[in-house]
Amino acid sequence: MKITRVHAKMVKVPLAKPFVVSLGTIYDCESVFVKIETDAGITGFGEGAGFGFVTGETNESVLGAIRLFEPLLTGQNPFAIEHIHRAMDEKMRGNGSAKAAIDIALYDIMSKAANLPLYQFLGGVKNRVEIDMTIGIGAPVEMAERAAELSREGFREIKVKAGANPADDAEAMRLIRAAAPAVHIKVDANQGWNVSTALTMLREYEKYGVEAVEQPVPYWDIDGLAAVRARSPIPIMADESCFTPQDASAIVRRGAADIINIKLMKCGGLYRAAQINAIAEAAGVRCMLGCMLESRLAIAAAAAFVASRPNVLFADLDSFNDFDDAAFVTRSFDYATPWITLPDAPGIGVEIEF
Ligand code: MG
Repeated sequence: MKITRVHAKMVKVPLAKPFVVSLGTIYDCESVFVKIETDAGITGFGEGAGFGFVTGETNESVLGAIRLFEPLLTGQNPFAIEHIHRAMDEKMRGNGSAKAAIDIALYDIMSKAANLPLYQFLGGVKNRVEIDMTIGIGAPVEMAERAAELSREGFREIKVKAGANPADDAEAMRLIRAAAPAVHIKVDANQGWNVSTALTMLREYEKYGVEAVEQPVPYWDIDGLAAVRARSPIPIMADESCFTPQDASAIVRRGAADIINIKLMKCGGLYRAAQINAIAEAAGVRCMLGCMLESRLAIAAAAAFVASRPNVLFADLDSFNDFDDAAFVTRSFDYATPWITLPDAPGIGVEIEF
């Protein structure tokens, strides 16, 4: 089987309401969709959601990178995934979302060719994944109301964004815990603190039973992350500090995190995600699968990975709930709060209009 064509296009979808994190405010969801054709008549679909705050990409740059990668793909066997990733890495450093779009489409092709749903192709047996829901930064009272609402809807895990203002973060958590006493809570500071502020906040969050705190310090500060973790009463998760398998290796060697947040858009797709998870697992570090503002296509690929990897404890795969992608997603997984049930059709099982 050989790859014959690579198509890419950008789709823009407004969010239901703006999403605020410590790094800025997001109004639209834009994703780049990829369609890869083969001479066997099997077609694969992928998605790359560039996210400047985190990956340093725009969707225009994702489209540009995919155009540069196309000649590397044409004529290759889609199963030559190691070779293709190496060729893309030699052509362009970084550009995880562009590489993820291609990687996801290749896994769609490989699992269709094997006549297996992706979660089985990846070695898994279960088809259900529990997701959490994220609460963006807002007025503490409104954040607590949202937590109560999510708990009533059936979410058992929530993630709370923080890092803009320590006093507001603390007040929000006090109100959230009172409003949703049974829910499991993780916090994501999105690099918003230094080491001393992080330690103060961690002691505050300990009172409310927060179960993990994500990326307390800037992405480049691995020493700071390790210093926070050494004195933290709560497990520390690395997100923006971990893009590549090499980053994961550095983090585990320096004891900088208890959990690594893997995102297909940071690392370049499922192939690298598996490498990062293997490095983490071998070092006794657990993983979470997170997402950017991705539609049901990339979310289904990430959920299949979670379903196939027992070392991945959490699925922070909530972005598809924030926007209406029904206009171009024509077939999808079943979702009943808080469970994604993956399709048993061969491939990712999510189809898009292209
Ligand atoms: Mg994060």
